[in-house]
Amino acid sequence: MRQSRTFIPTTREVPSSAEAISHKLLIKAGMVKQVSAGVYTYLPLATKVIQNIEKVIRDEHAKIGASELLMPILQSEDYWKQSGRWYKMGDELIRVTDRKNAGYALSPTAEEVICQTVSNMVTSYKQLPVNLYQIQTKFRDEIRPRLGLLRGKEFIMKDGYSFHDSPESLRETYNDYYQAYSNIFDRFELKYRAVKADSGNIGGSYTHEFQALAEVGEDTIVYTEESDYAANIETAAVVEQNYTMPTDYEKKERSLLETPNQQTIDDIAAYCGVEVNRAMKALALKADGEFYLVLMRGNDQLNDIKFMKATGTSEVEMATEQEIEEVMGSAVGYMGPFGIKNCKVIGDNAIKYMYNHSCGANKKGFHYINVNPGDYEVDAYYDLRMIEEGDLAEDLSGPVKFAKGIEVGQVFELGKGYSESMDITYLDANGRANHFYMGCYGIGVSRVISAIIEQHNDENGIIWPKEVTPYQVHLVCVDIKKEEQVKQSEELYKQLTEAGYEVLYDDRAERAGVKFNDADLIGIPLQVVVGKKVGDGIVEVKERKTLEKVDTKVEDVLSKVEAFYK
Ligand code: ATP
Ligand code: MG
Repeated sequence: MRQSRTFIPTTREVPSSAEAISHKLLIKAGMVKQVSAGVYTYLPLATKVIQNIEKVIRDEHAKIGASELLMPILQSEDYWKQSGRWYKMGDELIRVTDRKNAGYALSPTAEEVICQTVSNMVTSYKQLPVNLYQIQTKFRDEIRPRLGLLRGKEFIMKDGYSFHDSPESLRETYNDYYQAYSNIFDRFELKYRAVKADSGNIGGSYTHEFQALAEVGEDTIVYTEESDYAANIETAAVVEQNYTMPTDYEKKERSLLETPNQQTIDDIAAYCGVEVNRAMKALALKADGEFYLVLMRGNDQLNDIKFMKATGTSEVEMATEQEIEEVMGSAVGYMGPFGIKNCKVIGDNAIKYMYNHSCGANKKGFHYINVNPGDYEVDAYYDLRMIEEGDLAEDLSGPVKFAKGIEVGQVFELGKGYSESMDITYLDANGRANHFYMGCYGIGVSRVISAIIEQHNDENGIIWPKEVTPYQVHLVCVDIKKEEQVKQSEELYKQLTEAGYEVLYDDRAERAGVKFNDADLIGIPLQVVVGKKVGDGIVEVKERKTLEKVDTKVEDVLSKVEAFYK
């Protein structure tokens, strides 16, 4: 493609509302034009990137036997009412009416319509599993569309759906998708983690989120460098291998200590002469109407989700001062396990390993010191605390790190929820009607563009990974007034194009500086610069990532390009 003919409106003008690096670069490189908040036109360069992303997706979906179809965006409210999402989704669902006042949803995903699609068409267990996907525009009236293509009101999603006659068959397809997604994100050269996302509720669904690591990400994920372990910070388990008990410590005699003016746990620890991880803190909670005293190390934070899961409760709040005094018989700021009343006492696993520690004495102005395991009673121990950076990972592979992530995809075992509400069935081997087991699988195609740019850029611009780059070679004719340079450029353009490469040929009447800046900004991985040395049969081959330039004989250019893309 001749750059003089295509439309790549590069610019230095970036609106101040563009906070994310990817958003800025999408605008600077002339890839998108905003139409309204969260709604964009994809300009030719972005369109080519989308096509490449889609190609990789189609490729990997073909390998797992998923067939592509295309469902409507305009979806009758009837189906949405049947699934119940018409009522549940609230304002995020964009609703429109036609001239007869019939209601429609603009599809934010397509579980309802895929169910409508297979109903009465997939009728026998012999046809199962069925595995279908589409790449289609989606609509969500996000409260705050932001960060360019990362959170749009209108965006492109790949959404896949599978139908099964058993949980085992569903898990098999789920695992296929998990592998396909891994391959896809590898081919995009994204640094990502597949995070087991667990809603925390009892009986929560089986699902993984694919999170591309990036500072702008909205999710905090916990991972290690040593393995592919990753978890959401809300659910990341803290294993007991994190704690040890010295075998030879001298057990001291417990005694009461007056601690009248200590406010914070740090003050108390200092006053009691222990490090804060040997100052026990106790939290009084009320969950589903019952009282709990939760014992933890002074420096740890309670994870509410873990608490609710461990206790099988669903609503939790702090006990009031009055409840602490009148029900539990303690005093705010001085709670501890000795003599506490009318509550369950539960401990974080870490406290099993505390020794000669302090704790509240349930008496205003007093703490115990030199408390040891066995001195008091605990109803149960659980993993209850928030994980911290440096804790040993659940798979014991090494210390965990925290990172921000962008959710680029998710695989989800839906089970029978939709097939039951939409009432779609197949006949099993005994001729009985059963509801399908279903899975759904999404990739944010347009969001992926931004995620890739977030991870692949430098101060000069974008650096495209090989499989998604809009063009493979950026051929730059430095000065189109020089006949020799034009002649050589035209020849190379022809040669590379005929060899099957996609070449963007900068044949514009622009200054050399402008062309070089644009080439780095647009970020095609290889640049071939035809300049002054062409008289000696020499051009420059520049790798965008390393910025390394190598004088290359004209006749060697093709083999260099081939070597780069092999
Ligand atoms: P998020 O938590 O970011 O709102 P989600 O979990 O609601 O996303 P899904 O319903 O799982 O999203 O949709 C599948 C994929 O579509 C997501 O993994 C994400 O990559 C993409 N996606 C979702 N919402 C948007 C959006 N507003 N703009 C761009 N991509 C989106
Ligand atoms: Mg999701």
